[in-house]
Amino acid sequence: MARKPILAGNWKMHGSVADAKALASGLAANVGKRDDRGVILGPPFTALATTLEAVRGTNIVVAAQNMHFEEKGAFTGEISPTMLQDLGITHVILGHSERREVFGETDELINKKVGSALAHDLTAILCVGETLEQRDAGDTIKVIKGQVEAGLTGVTAAQASKIILAYEPVWAIGTGRVATPEQAQEVHAEIRACANGLGLPGDDIAILYGGSVKPDNVDGLMTCPDIDGALVGGASLKVEDFTRIVEFQE
Ligand code: PEP
Repeated sequence: MARKPILAGNWKMHGSVADAKALASGLAANVGKRDDRGVILGPPFTALATTLEAVRGTNIVVAAQNMHFEEKGAFTGEISPTMLQDLGITHVILGHSERREVFGETDELINKKVGSALAHDLTAILCVGETLEQRDAGDTIKVIKGQVEAGLTGVTAAQASKIILAYEPVWAIGTGRVATPEQAQEVHAEIRACANGLGLPGDDIAILYGGSVKPDNVDGLMTCPDIDGALVGGASLKVEDFTRIVEFQE
């Protein structure tokens, strides 16, 4: 099965509701009708409803940046899968390195969230990535395999169509230091082999690269056979830049 490219924006903790409306509306006008590429926008919780409204009637879908694994309860400050469903959200980013590093999320917790997302028919965008120290120590593949295996524990082949993986080397996120296409391709191929080893249809699972993707480096990354798209932070906050990323040249 040919994998459709997916370009996803992670807006992180940026922008007002009005900013989100302008950004989503601009992207809806520019790339909302494309059906050869999947486009995902990840606004902060406060702008999910507005973003959904702005892309209504287009092919763009909206992702939350996190969720709790429980449906409800005494979890102050958290958002549940059923709350996301209630809004009409279809995708959720899980295990972003900022969640792991800043908020102490473990592989075990992230795996619970992945299982909960799938149980609620949400597509999970599972992020993995090594730190610079781990790369310099020659541990990249070991770390990535460990995160993929832990994150996907319990996921069945039948659920694989609801999984998107994102390889985001921590040293490349927000640093302007992008992985070379060769560095990214090497890890993506390992991730695909790892998914196959878990009994999942690895060839059908989209694996996105994330880490300082910009209009001027996306084309090179997208030439790699196992890079199926990009998860984009900073450059997803500008209509022109993210439009150009969606319109990468093959
Ligand atoms: C991200 O936060 O997922 C990311 C890849 O950020 P940036 O593109 O800014 O490096």
